[in-house]
Amino acid sequence: MTPFFLDKFGNASSLHSFGRDARGAMEQARKSVAALINAEPREIVFTSGGTEADNMAVKGIAMYKGRLKGHIITSKIEHHAVLEPCIFLKRYGFELTEVPVSTDGLVDPADVEKAVRDDTVLISIMTANNEIGTVQPYREIAKVAKAHGVPFHTDAVQAIGKMPIDVKADGIDMLSMSAHKFHGPKGVGALYVRKGTEIEPIIHGGGHERGMRSSTENVPGIVGFGKAAEIAKRDMGPVTQKVMRLRDRLIEEIPRLIPRAHLNGHPTKRLVNNANFRFEYIEGEALILQLDMLGIAASTGSACSTSSLEPSHVLLAIGLPHEHAHGSLRLTLGRENTEEDVDYFLAHLPGVVSKLREISPFNSETPMPAGGGGSCSV
Ligand code: PLP
Repeated sequence: MTPFFLDKFGNASSLHSFGRDARGAMEQARKSVAALINAEPREIVFTSGGTEADNMAVKGIAMYKGRLKGHIITSKIEHHAVLEPCIFLKRYGFELTEVPVSTDGLVDPADVEKAVRDDTVLISIMTANNEIGTVQPYREIAKVAKAHGVPFHTDAVQAIGKMPIDVKADGIDMLSMSAHKFHGPKGVGALYVRKGTEIEPIIHGGGHERGMRSSTENVPGIVGFGKAAEIAKRDMGPVTQKVMRLRDRLIEEIPRLIPRAHLNGHPTKRLVNNANFRFEYIEGEALILQLDMLGIAASTGSACSTSSLEPSHVLLAIGLPHEHAHGSLRLTLGRENTEEDVDYFLAHLPGVVSKLREISPFNSETPMPAGGGGSCSV
């Protein structure tokens, strides 16, 4: 990326040699991104990230040729980047069905099929969930969509680079990606749009990206995205094997080392790099802060450190009571993590959990109250 910040600073739309250099590098990146999902380069529209790609897919399909009504099917556990555009469209007259998920976080393709109506304009179900890691039966859902002639979009932001995806064989019409989820730079992503899909641009202007997304292209970001795609494709087999081994150690050893620790998400149909646990009697935010002091960066489904006291909609959708949804810890691994990292983590986690349980008002001897125990102050 560095040369494209410095001496190769051309605008990819300019005709001079600096511009042509930038355009060449951008088109090379488009080929690499397309190759990762078996798409054609011209089916890749670069965006500012996964959120914009999701917005483009949902609003761009729904509002095709000025349409202002219709029915959209999505799931209860989509990322906000899909759910919020759906809610936005509801305000303008669209109708929405959010299909439920099992306690493992799986969408049942039969539920999607049951929800299809004559006026359904879009089915948008994520490839894999960002919090609990569950991988959806997206190929079966794509078949349902195809059988009913409805475009199928999948938010693959968490799945790209971690599992092989073939948009042609899998029957996907639109797919969202974000570079920073697989070691690329932040602030760049793409929407794959199958040739012939009837979609409207949502950002209008000078006609960049074949008119699908105006604005001067982020050349260094796109070059970094292309490189990350190239490396992900090259290394996918060995890297996923390694990361999966580390994940499986977490999944096996945490419940062995810590009583009343439960895995969230599907035991096997899950992202290779994701382990998500809930610990009874523990507030997730407190856990994150304690781990941070040990140099361990993790996250929680709970949003109570920010402006909202609501626990994650994903954890509620899999049927967890509020107090359990607040006690969740999301662990994600990358290609640079090592067995030693996992050893270090497992050596410290039990002590942190028991320390927090000692000061919890709901310790193991005290039964948790039914409902309303989701306090943010442990
Ligand atoms: N979709 C999913 C499943 C995500 O996990 C994320 C980011 O965490 C996004 C969309 C949004 O991507 P971005 O941050 O690139 O806008």
